[in-house]
Amino acid sequence: MTGHHPQTRAVHPPVIAPDGSRPLTVPIYQGHLFTFDAADDLAAAFAGPDQAFFYARMGNPTVRSLERAVTEMEGGAGALATASGMGAINAVLMGLLRSGDHVIAQTALYGGTYALLQNLAERWGVEVTFVPGDDPAEVHGALRPTTRLLYLETIANPTTHVTDLPAFTAAVRGTDVLTVVDNTFAPLLCKPLDHGVDVVVHSATKYFSGHGDIIGGVAVFADPSVHHRVWKHALELGPTADAFAAWLTVRGLATMPMRVARQSESALDLARRLAAHPSVARVHYPDLPDHPQHEVARRLLPDGAGGVLAFELAGGREAGRVFSETVELISLGPSLGNVASLVMHPASTSHRQMDAATLAAAGIGEGTVRLSVGLEHPDDLWADIEQALRKAT
Ligand SMILES: *Cc1c(COP(=O)(O)O)cnc(C)c1O
Repeated sequence: MTGHHPQTRAVHPPVIAPDGSRPLTVPIYQGHLFTFDAADDLAAAFAGPDQAFFYARMGNPTVRSLERAVTEMEGGAGALATASGMGAINAVLMGLLRSGDHVIAQTALYGGTYALLQNLAERWGVEVTFVPGDDPAEVHGALRPTTRLLYLETIANPTTHVTDLPAFTAAVRGTDVLTVVDNTFAPLLCKPLDHGVDVVVHSATKYFSGHGDIIGGVAVFADPSVHHRVWKHALELGPTADAFAAWLTVRGLATMPMRVARQSESALDLARRLAAHPSVARVHYPDLPDHPQHEVARRLLPDGAGGVLAFELAGGREAGRVFSETVELISLGPSLGNVASLVMHPASTSHRQMDAATLAAAGIGEGTVRLSVGLEHPDDLWADIEQALRKAT
């Protein structure tokens, strides 16, 4: 299937089937153990992530179908599916780092990843330097002999900051620094491995599933030996994906090309309408010409910038809270990539401990609202947004 377009491949996933059968869709293998006639065959199964199935913490046919589908999608050499996005990020960071290693990471990171890096620094002796992610020269300045990993996000939350992945991977070319990219916000829109990235991580909870019915994650590797190192650590860590969640994720992947394309279209439409509204001070969406990384986005995300946008309400913190509580069709909740539209006001929820200055340092305004655009008709979404803007102003 590798010669076909992503939307074709998405509905013909690699199916691991019982001998001699050809199921059209991926079956659920709800068993934890596979038995053997010969001890040597069982021993050989321990050798790596592509060997025979023996114990489902190390591999399961449904989970492997998901891993193969995502490997094809990202153009990798192999993948590890996990119980959550954080499970994938933990498996990768803990599998590849040891005490004394140095990590360069961009400042605008998913909250859980930021907390994990702080934890690795405080308790495990990993050193971390945060850089803004605007200029690859930041990486040249931060590199040390002990630097092992560069950690980036394609599109960051909630500012929709876009990182120039080819420029940043070029900054560590010729070193043994591995680049890891969280591509959760831009599945299919960007293929980080094509830009020299070594490991891609996804929260499958978001666009992959798309239907709000699972928690899951996947890490995809360019190099089989890096895959093997992380797989080996994951056996000990235990963030294994469940077969049923993997099955729902594969099902979600079938429609993801259509969903992401439509969500990107609707998000751009709403971003333009918001930008023209008098109660809105600023809109953050990579496909708007005034976005700080618009040029990078045109290169890196030529088919669309995804379903997430953010905007600043002129009325500040109170206006943001009222808006997020007043939308009716759109739900208030901390997720994204769903078929149903979702809204978040960081200053009154996830970031409520922060004052205006601390928020500003993270690139977030007191009136910043994040919108994850779903598959509703954009006119219906706009009607809901307009009535909430009226009440919030
Ligand atoms: C949600 C999310 C995660 C964490 O994924 P879970 O599936 O919730 O563990 C990581 N990175 C990004 C960008 C996310 O949006």
